[in-house]
Amino acid sequence: MSSTDAILDRLRHDRQRLTLQRRLIIEVLCERGDHLTVNDVQQHLHSKGCDLNEPTVYRNLQWLKDQGIVSQTDLGGSGIVYQIVGARPHHHLVCLHCGGVVDLEDQLLDDLREQLRRRYGFEPRIDHMAIFGICQTCQDQETARAGQP
Ligand SMILES: [Zn+2]
Ligand SMILES: [Zn+2]
Repeated sequence: MSSTDAILDRLRHDRQRLTLQRRLIIEVLCERGDHLTVNDVQQHLHSKGCDLNEPTVYRNLQWLKDQGIVSQTDLGGSGIVYQIVGARPHHHLVCLHCGGVVDLEDQLLDDLREQLRRRYGFEPRIDHMAIFGICQTCQDQETARAGQP
C-alpha cells in the first residue's frame, strides 16, 4: 500500500470522507517520500496550488494518522516527521549527543512484535520508530576524554 490510488481506494472502501485537502496531502506524501515535516507538506501543497495554514495541515495529518495511513515520528533535533505507512519500512536510532540519525531495519523489531502479541495479547503498530541513545562515535569520544589526564 504505497501508491496514492491504493490509499484512496482503501479510504473509499472504508467510506471515509475524501476532501480535496486529504487527497492532496496523500499525494504529496506518496510523491515526496518520507520524513516530511508539517512545514514541508505545507510547502509542497503550495506548489500544487493549494494553500493551507499549518494547523489545517496538522489536523489533516492527524486524521490520516488515525486511519493508519500516515505515521508520525519525533526524530529529536530533526523535528516531527510524517510518512506513508509501509512505503519503506524502517526505524531510527537517534543520538542524544550529536543528533545523528541512523536507519534501523524493520526486521529487527519482529521479535519484539512477536513477544508483545504472545505475552500481552497486544497487536503492536510499530510503523516508524525512533530510539534515542548515544551513538558509537559519541561513546568513543567520551571514552577518549575520560582517558585523558
Ligand atoms: Zn525514517
Ligand atoms: Zn552521537
